[in-house]
Amino acid sequence: MTLNAQPAASLFIGGRPVEGQGAPLPVLYPFTGQVIATLHEASAEQVADACRIAADAQPAWAALPPVERGRVLARAAQIIRDRGDELARLETLDTGKPIQETQVADWPSGADALEFFAGLAATVTGQMIPLGRDWAYTRREALGVCAGIGAWNYPSQIACWKAAPALAMGNAMVFKPSEETPLGALKLAEILIEAGLPAGVFNVVQGRGAVGGALVSDPHVAKVSLTGSVPTGRRVYAAAAEGMRHVTMELGGKSPLIVFDDASLEDAVGAAVLANFYSSGQICSNGTRVFVQAGIRDAFLARLAERVARVKMGDPMDPDTQHGPVINAAQAAKIRAAIASGVDQGARLVCGGAGEGAFIPPTVFADATDDMSITRDEIFGPVMTVLTFADEDEVVSRANNTGFGLAAGVFTADLTRAHRVVAGLQAGTCWINAYNLTPVQMPFGGVKQSGIGRENSAAAIEHYSQIKSVYVGMGPVESPY
Ligand code: NDP
Repeated sequence: MTLNAQPAASLFIGGRPVEGQGAPLPVLYPFTGQVIATLHEASAEQVADACRIAADAQPAWAALPPVERGRVLARAAQIIRDRGDELARLETLDTGKPIQETQVADWPSGADALEFFAGLAATVTGQMIPLGRDWAYTRREALGVCAGIGAWNYPSQIACWKAAPALAMGNAMVFKPSEETPLGALKLAEILIEAGLPAGVFNVVQGRGAVGGALVSDPHVAKVSLTGSVPTGRRVYAAAAEGMRHVTMELGGKSPLIVFDDASLEDAVGAAVLANFYSSGQICSNGTRVFVQAGIRDAFLARLAERVARVKMGDPMDPDTQHGPVINAAQAAKIRAAIASGVDQGARLVCGGAGEGAFIPPTVFADATDDMSITRDEIFGPVMTVLTFADEDEVVSRANNTGFGLAAGVFTADLTRAHRVVAGLQAGTCWINAYNLTPVQMPFGGVKQSGIGRENSAAAIEHYSQIKSVYVGMGPVESPY
């Protein structure tokens, strides 16, 4: 099998591949550690060029009839679907995630976003405000140049989720993927050009945090949309504030998944597995604090251990593999340190543990307490902490006792209770008798430290546009002077 994923060039600026003038950026296949491409970071001048070129291209793009912008996005969605296998393979090389996931979740969800915002583009209207003789109206206008910055867990989905609403509203974008996973965004740039996007409207720069920092501070940038950790989010939000830029912050979480004793045990266990081990646990919205009502705790843990024992770990390109490596050695070391701290602090390891090399097996802790670091901190790996609770008030208060507020889930057969509990949970995205489903039609995002703004759905349009108010005088001007 060929493992060469070298792109035509490292960056994509002004409608064509451009080689980076900065430091080398080796791209490793997480399964083997082999170098599959060597890219180069963008220099500071190249970041500035990309932003200037985007600013130059944006007005003509914004001036097109929205339905025409939508057609370009719809064509891009179709190209992605037509090339599904090739793109899934590239995503697996970039991330190490099993091909059975990248074929159904990553690019397909990006295509869904492009298709959704393609349709929405032409439906955005303003308001007419009657004022007697005079009247006013509003126009929803593009912001200008948007900077997109992505994390490494869903690189192509993140690029599409940001590009689709931004471009639909007539903005241009300069996107910086994570240094760990630079390949998917370059493909998206090529596909958008093939679909008819004018040169310069979507650009890609590569690099580590400093390149992201230069991008966020560029004077042409009107908005920053970041998917990343809470500490990076704080830094980027502060830098954006300097220029009074708009922000969308999709940050980390430590989300609760609450299982009442009347829930379907099989569904709740299945959801807990999905909510913790998909993408080797590297998902922001994962339900890593699983609160199980005391009466079903033992049955829940027994069935969980049985189902986890069947998870097939191995070569991500094998279609039967369900659990691949984590992104890199540093992340594996961080996850192992978290597992060791759980053991040291007295939690009981039900299954899993340190693993080997880049593989961390699905790991479940029981008998943990709310103050342990495995219960409090985001691990961003396949580590589930099972906690027990007695009643509804107690579990809602413990579920909310965190600085994060990205997501939450409730399993119960009592629908009245389900809606009451969800109403009390401090989380931007909640599921009832389901977990981690993020259809493009539904707003997605966090509260508290987990972020600002929403991606997906019509709500995203508000975060990629601004309102202009226009007062229309219909008679003589009454002036006191
Ligand atoms: P990081 O916060 O480390 O990085 C996110 C992005 O920001 C990367 O592209 C990174 O570049 C860049 N960056 C780092 N420093 C700066 C800076 N000063 N200015 C501008 N950009 C900067 O996150 P990870 O990539 O490690 O991703 C994991 C985190 O992302 C987890 O906390 C996870 O919960 C969160 N996440 C949130 C999601 C959501 O939708 N809420 C979805 C997916 C992940 P580089 O990588 O090159 O350093």
